[in-house]
Amino acid sequence: MNTTQQKPFPLWVDFHCHLDLYPDHKAIITECELARVATLAVTTTPKAWQRNCELAMNSPFVRVGLGLHPQLVSEREGEVALLERYLPSARYVGEIGLDASPRFYRSFEAQERVFTRILHACVEQGGKILSIHSVRTAAKVLDHLEKTNLLENCQAILHWFTGTAAEARRAVELGCYFSVNEEMMRSAKHRKLIGSLPLNRLLTETDGPFVQSKGTAVRPFDVHRAVHEIALLHCISNEVAASVILGNLKSLVTTGGSA
Ligand code: MN
Repeated sequence: MNTTQQKPFPLWVDFHCHLDLYPDHKAIITECELARVATLAVTTTPKAWQRNCELAMNSPFVRVGLGLHPQLVSEREGEVALLERYLPSARYVGEIGLDASPRFYRSFEAQERVFTRILHACVEQGGKILSIHSVRTAAKVLDHLEKTNLLENCQAILHWFTGTAAEARRAVELGCYFSVNEEMMRSAKHRKLIGSLPLNRLLTETDGPFVQSKGTAVRPFDVHRAVHEIALLHCISNEVAASVILGNLKSLVTTGGSA
C-alpha cells in the first residue's frame, strides 16, 4: 500500500495565543487543528515550556514559544537561566519584551536585563522567531533590537503594537512584523496605524484568553475577525487578506533560519 499523505495546510494564522491559560488546553489544540489555524502558543514562564511542547508534539498547526513575560519579571527574573537552558531546542521565543505601564514600571530595570540577555542568546544561536510585547516601550524595544543586531539572523514580531506612527516606520525599516488582534481594532488610533502598515508585514493574533468578546475569551478560530478588519482597512477582500497573511507567515518561517 502506498498512499500519499498530503501535509495539511493552514487557513488562518494566530501568531500569539496563550493556549496554556485556557481551562481546556488539550481541547483548544484540537480546535486549532479542526479550524486549521497555524497557532503560536506563547508562554509566560519557561517552566511551562516542556508541558506545552508535550501537548503540541503531534499537532501540525500548533508551535510553542519559549517565554518569560515582562509582567512576571519582578518575581521571576531568576528563571531567565532556565529559558537559556531550553533555548537551543526552541525556534519560537515569546512572550518576551518590556512593559513600562504604571503597574510594572518598578521592575523596568530587571525587565531590560532579562530582555537583553534573551536577545543576546537568540543572536548567538540564530534562526529564532520572537513574539515581543512592547507596552509603552516601542522605542526602547527597537533600540534593543538594534543594539543586539537581533534582526541579522532572527525575526521579530511586535505583538499588539501601540507605538506611534514614527516608531512603526522605524520598526518596518528594521524588518519587524506586526501581529494584530481584534481588540486593537476597537481603537480609531490603532486602526489608522494598522491601515498604514505594509501588508507584507502583517500577521494576525488573538492574544487569548486575555482578549474577550461578548464576555468570553476569544479562541484561535476567532482570528478570522482580525483578518476581516485588516481587509477593511487595506481595502482588499477577506480572501486576499487571509492569503496575504498566510504568505507572510510562510516567508517569515522560511527566512527565519533553519534551526
Ligand atoms: Mn500575550
